[in-house]
Amino acid sequence: MTDCLFCKIVAREVPADIVHETDRTVAFKDINPTAPVHILVIPREHVEDAAAITPEYADDLAALVVAAREVAEAHGVAGPDRGYRLVFNVGPDATNSVPHLHLHVIGGRAMTWPPG
Ligand code: 5GP
Ligand code: ZN
Repeated sequence: MTDCLFCKIVAREVPADIVHETDRTVAFKDINPTAPVHILVIPREHVEDAAAITPEYADDLAALVVAAREVAEAHGVAGPDRGYRLVFNVGPDATNSVPHLHLHVIGGRAMTWPPG
């Protein structure tokens, strides 16, 4: 997608603080963090959101979740006495604002449930 912000981050046309990369994924710090650790893991290939995922997408989806675990481990929020939240926002009620699939990795503070 030529006019997609996160595709431009993948293409290095828009700067971002990239912290992790694989052949299928890129992870970078959220520009407006909601916790001490707030990193977005995205597929290199453009997919609009989690509602657009099909069974053929299984390998990319697994790659996103594995990358999220590696990001959490690298940022010290994994492990039995810590924890983190993985979030896909879909649609306006969930405040989805960027139409390129992104998995939020949020951690470094105690969280509450249900989310706001
Ligand atoms: P959403 O609400 O769509 O699930 O999350 C989009 C996230 O992208 C937000 O947390 C927002 O702070 C982040 N974001 C929006 N624009 C940029 C940007 O240009 N750079 C980075 N690093 N994060 C962004
Ligand atoms: Zn995109």
